[in-house]
Amino acid sequence: MTFDELLAASAAAHGHLCPGQVVGVRLALLGLRLQGMAVPPTLAQLKDLIVYVEMDRCAGDAVAYVTGVRLGRRSLKFADYGIMAATFLNLRTGRAYRILSTEESRELAALYAPEETDKVRQQLVAYRRMPDSVLFRVQEVEVELREVDLPGPTRAKATCQACGQVVRDGREVRQNGRVLCRPCTGGAYFRRPREIVWPEMNWIPSAGPLWPLRPSSAHEDDHDQKDSPD
Ligand SMILES: [Zn+2]
Ligand SMILES: [Zn+2]
Repeated sequence: MTFDELLAASAAAHGHLCPGQVVGVRLALLGLRLQGMAVPPTLAQLKDLIVYVEMDRCAGDAVAYVTGVRLGRRSLKFADYGIMAATFLNLRTGRAYRILSTEESRELAALYAPEETDKVRQQLVAYRRMPDSVLFRVQEVEVELREVDLPGPTRAKATCQACGQVVRDGREVRQNGRVLCRPCTGGAYFRRPREIVWPEMNWIPSAGPLWPLRPSSAHEDDHDQKDSPD
């Protein structure tokens, strides 16, 4: 497979061709090369590979596509740093490389593709022409992956003593002698959860077409009247 074929496949999976795809595909290729892995990795190599992606942007999709790591297989880890970087960890050897996309590469796009006037086109072309040494910085890093973060069967389950929710993989929090899920400690991305039900909630797939089933007649058990709608 050529670079262009790989890029086209990654762009198709992502939804569009963008500069992030070029950088992401190249970043993934460099990571696999540093780990001595094939493109795509063999099944045996894939079992040893964990990739930490530090941004939820276009390049992240390319890295996942080219390497074959998946959130659902626990081989793709998301570190919400807002940094254009990814770390490739080999579980067998323990070696890990963190690859960062350089800011200079953005500034140098005009130099590498002077014939292009459109900014996006210029980046698309320039990021193919730049050597890895201009596009990236590489760090050798140490990554301590906890047992509960490894791929494979669930190693730990706990039950939240406030809401009863089962929490997997050691993500429970111990607070004042109680075992709690993260939302119950106030550390959630949402707030004011209120359980709702509606008549059509009894829908099952064999019942017919996938109609838009909005909870139109939903009612709430409104415990807290003091809240204003937000
Ligand atoms: Zn994109
Ligand atoms: Zn809870």
